[in-house]
Parts: sequence; structure tokens; C-alpha cells
Amino acid sequence: MIPVRFPIAILIIIFIIASVFILARAAAPAQLIERTRLCMGTMVEIRAGVPSGWQRQRAEALIDKAFAEIGRIEGVFSVFKTDSEISKINALASDAPVETTGEVCALVERCLAYSKKTNGAFDITVKPLVGLWDRAKELKDVPSESAISAAAAKVGFRYLKVDAADKTVYFQRQGMALDLGGVAKGYAADRAAAMLMANGIRDAIVNLGGNMYCLGSYSGREMWRIGIRHPRERGKILMALKVKDKAVVTSGDYERYFIAGGRRYSHIIDPRTGHSIGDDIVSATVIAKDAATADMLATALCVLGREGLDMVKDVEGADAVIIRKNGNSFETFTTGGFMERYGATQGQ
Ligand code: AMP
Ligand code: MG
Repeated sequence: MIPVRFPIAILIIIFIIASVFILARAAAPAQLIERTRLCMGTMVEIRAGVPSGWQRQRAEALIDKAFAEIGRIEGVFSVFKTDSEISKINALASDAPVETTGEVCALVERCLAYSKKTNGAFDITVKPLVGLWDRAKELKDVPSESAISAAAAKVGFRYLKVDAADKTVYFQRQGMALDLGGVAKGYAADRAAAMLMANGIRDAIVNLGGNMYCLGSYSGREMWRIGIRHPRERGKILMALKVKDKAVVTSGDYERYFIAGGRRYSHIIDPRTGHSIGDDIVSATVIAKDAATADMLATALCVLGREGLDMVKDVEGADAVIIRKNGNSFETFTTGGFMERYGATQGQ
């Protein structure tokens, strides 16, 4: 076995981009391949242990296939691509039901289920408000109440109708639009990890800018160690955890926000009020059986705050940590038993 050193450059990029990341050691005890590419608007990192008896190239080819799968998912779900299935729905579904693929229908239905579970804190119909707050970010000016009300009138998962049998999606209000930015990266992490697993890889991590699925263990022996970054101090770790066959996803205002009138505005919107969430909840990290679920829950927890932890406990296999600002310091809140279950330690 050749020990592989993790290139420092990759780690620095991940430090800057991701709010959760893999805590690598100086050298791995087994052959580990690592690849980093820019996909879905974020830095995507895949690490995979080469199964014993395999040629390294065989695992490398599979990693290429996993990246291709992430690229395919971006092509289907991105609102930034005019020919995506979601853009097609957004252009037409206010007029009549739009036929789409089984994959899109299934994910939209899962999103609807989590909108119900979170009482609308997670809602993929939030796009009109996302557009409004994106413009506000460019102008560094908070939108007027009337502009927020006008956009909020076009938001509401209750007006989104999915017919699984006909594979159609329909908007009951004019001007509605979908934005799967709060779930698509998690979904892509799941799909890429499932692809690797189905082809014989047992130990891997797929990490889309802090939306990660941890398959198996680190080099077949120790569990993967994941670090939750300190929300304001670059390079500092707030908490380290150990996971196996689990997703770990963080949402928060680490990178995407703007400041106006001395207040920090996040890219996450409370769909129920139309407002960008305040700077009270800094981040939410969710551990779950799959990364799509963890991604939806992490976004919802940023909206719901500490009260949302009860909702996470209702989801089998899910746990969460919330970081809340308290004056100039930070407090963490977790679901019961979190620290013990994941061997979590404060700091590194
Ligand atoms: P995440 O980083 O997973 O928390 O997702 C944030 C992205 O999801 C934003 O950039 C928006 O595109 C979208 N989004 C914002 N607020 C919500 C919300 N309350 N529910 C669902 N998606 C949201
Ligand atoms: Mg999310």
C-alpha cells in the first residue's frame, strides 16, 4: 500500500468554501484517491478508498462517473440552466400541468413532504423571494414591505401540485417558480455515493461544498472524521464528529450573505414571512441517513432555530447541531445524545 498525502492546496480551498469538511490526517494508511472539481456552483470533492485487489485506475474511472452523475443532476435541477427540467417547469407550469421525469417528480414530492413536516420553513416554491433578495444583495438595500408581500403572494407549497401517476407539476398561482437550491446538492451527493457503492467502492466521501455523504469508513478502518467550521474564524474548528454511512450537511450564513444597515442578511429566506433570516442562527448541521433529507432539514433549521430540533428528532436516524449567536459569542444546541453518538469533541 502506498501512503497518500493530502495536498494542502485542496484542503485550503475546502476550508474557504465549505462549512463542514473532512479532517484529514497527514497520511492515509490505505490507498485513497481524491479529486476536486467545480460543479453546481461549489467545490466538489470526492475521496474514495481503492478496494483491495483493485487497480487504482478502476476506482479513478468510477470517480469520473460520479462527477458525471453530479453534472447530470445539475443539468436537470439547476435554475441557472435555461434548458433544465426545473426551468421548463418554471416557464410553463402556471398555465397548465407540465410533464416531467419520474426523477424530478419524486424529488419534488419529497420536498413537499418536508414542507409539510417543517410547516413551510422548507419550501421550494420560495424562488420569487430568492430573486427579490438576490437583487437586494446586489443593491445592498433591503426590499420594501410591499415588494416582499408581492413576491410572497407567489410563494406557497400548498399551491404546488404534483401528479405522480401522470408525472406532472402544476402551479395553482401565476408567477410561481421552483428553486431546488436547498436540496439539490444533497441529492447529488446521495446519487454520486450510491453510484460508487453500486460499483464496489465501500469507503468514500462525496462533498459538495459542505453537503456530504460519508460512505463506509476512513481507509476501511477508522470512521470518517468531519469538522464543523467555526462560523466566523477561518481555519478554526468548532466541533469534530465521527460518522459512517451517514450524510452530514451544513446550512448557514458562512459565505453567502450581505450586510445592510449594520445587519447581516442570509441567502436563506423564511417563506412564511418573506424575509431573509436574521443573524441569530449562524448555522445548522444535520446528520441523516441521506444527504437530500439532511440538506432539506438543515435549511429548515436555519429558519426554525432551536425549536426545529424537535422536528429533527422525529426523522429516523437524524440529528442536528445549531450554532446561535449570543452577543459576541456563540452557543451550540444539539439533539439529545448527539455528542456521544458521533464521538463529538469541541474544537479539533
Ligand atoms: P442551503 O444552502 O441548502 O441552505 O440552501 C439555500 C438555498 O436554497 C438558497 O440559496 C435558495 O436558493 C434556497 N432557499 C432559500 N430559502 C429556502 C427555504 N426556506 N426553503 C427552501 N429553499 C430555500
Ligand atoms: Mg439545504
